[in-house]
Amino acid sequence: MSIGDERQSLVVRGGGAEHPLTGPCTLVRSRGQWVIRGVDIPTTIANARVVDFDSPTELTVRKKEGRRYEGIIRCVADYDPPQLNFDVINVVPMEQYIPGVLAGELYEGWHNATFQAQAIAARSFALSRCQQRSSKMWDVTDTASSQMYIGVPPWDQAKDMAAATRGEVIVWKGAVVPGYFSSCCGGRAATATDAVGPNPVNAVPPLTGHQSPPYCTKAPRYRWSVTQSVASVSQAIRAWGKRTDQKDYVAIGEVISFTPITPNRHGRPTEIEVKSVGGTSITIQCVDLPGVFWEANLPSLSSGWVGAEVKDGKLVMNGRGFGHGVGLCQYGAEAMAASAIPYQRIIEFYYPQGTITKAW
Ligand SMILES: [Zn+2]
Repeated sequence: MSIGDERQSLVVRGGGAEHPLTGPCTLVRSRGQWVIRGVDIPTTIANARVVDFDSPTELTVRKKEGRRYEGIIRCVADYDPPQLNFDVINVVPMEQYIPGVLAGELYEGWHNATFQAQAIAARSFALSRCQQRSSKMWDVTDTASSQMYIGVPPWDQAKDMAAATRGEVIVWKGAVVPGYFSSCCGGRAATATDAVGPNPVNAVPPLTGHQSPPYCTKAPRYRWSVTQSVASVSQAIRAWGKRTDQKDYVAIGEVISFTPITPNRHGRPTEIEVKSVGGTSITIQCVDLPGVFWEANLPSLSSGWVGAEVKDGKLVMNGRGFGHGVGLCQYGAEAMAASAIPYQRIIEFYYPQGTITKAW
């Protein structure tokens, strides 16, 4: 990990000691200790489990090169031998965090109301995670597994729209609602208990999904189609069966069709029936399907809402939407904003019975 730039004075803290540095520094783990290349740091710091660097600063971790972060950069070493790995955590106040999510999740130039609705959804999601993970070292990742986050955004709209909704979150009966969102719902909303998980915080009216109209019909992945080899998809399902210890998955023959079944209250399927040569069939949860493809290194599926049939010896897969389809639909929100619908109405539409409260 590289931190800082040529001009920057940094301070590293650990084990109650601190030491001045000049960036850029490269931090590694070696023999259970912190090593900053080319710098002698006090033993107290080298032996600490957690070291902190002051921000704002440049940080390069793996491919995310040269991003700037405010707050503190905290590095936490693994407990387990050989103790070579470490987590990199940005400890940052919520209102400085949200702009980096907006810039990671939306396109510059989309309507302000879309940014405002997204800011409220993202803040609600993050706050809910903070509550659930209060005993952990970190709350959210910086990828789509939580929500994208790129540090200090390179453009102003993200910062301005976060500030315009400062402290606003979605609540239901006094509790903050995890503001799940996805790129495109494909026209029919998913319910959180089906598409995210059975956690009790998900079983609330605002996460049961929006009614019509869909608004996102112009999104690039409102409907989509991909073609896969029959063998690779069949093999992916068998591998998944092996990993999850499901014998009927392991035994499945060549796949001949996917049929979406078991619709939720909005008509969105929650399961896919997979038929194979010989007439046997299995059922895969929509929420699991993208993972089946991902773990087999197949091109990723945009969503788990997909039908398929064999054409010319290949499996033609026709799907809808991009992401899990719960809560705010980003393309739908942008279409609403383009019709001059204010952000409060967008939140009401995507989180029915949820209300906006200023938490700070
Ligand atoms: Zn939608």
